[in-house]
Amino acid sequence: MIKLRGHHIFCLLGYRGMGYSEEYVANMTKIHTILREKPDTMIQIIKGPDHLCRKFPEDQPYHCEDKGIYIRDKEIVKRLGLKFSDVLPWREIERRIRIHVKASDIEVVCETCSWRSYGFCEQGVERVIEAKGLMEVEQK
Ligand code: SF4
Repeated sequence: MIKLRGHHIFCLLGYRGMGYSEEYVANMTKIHTILREKPDTMIQIIKGPDHLCRKFPEDQPYHCEDKGIYIRDKEIVKRLGLKFSDVLPWREIERRIRIHVKASDIEVVCETCSWRSYGFCEQGVERVIEAKGLMEVEQK
């Protein structure tokens, strides 16, 4: 089972193989690939640092416990009709995204994120709405 915090659900939609460090990227690519290839993988929604945060590099400013990040998590969990500690398959998370999320939500919910300007996260939401699932990311 993969533990995810709310906003990382959106980050995975827009993931294109970029991240904070080589180790962080390797871990995120692994999780992303599992979800793309096996959408029945069970996810537990958690509050606070998750299976992506655990590879956040120690030599960079740690933001995983910032208040603003918790607010973003809460907003996304609520939007998907979920609550912390819920367990469900990734496939069901994508179904909820199709129903409850639109691409322009990224601009509002993720206003302060430095990765947002690439536009990949909006594209990721659109892909899921069109039932195309996660985009394949090359494993390094
Ligand atoms: S804009 Fe930032 S926080 Fe929002 S989904 Fe994209 S990478 Fe994640």
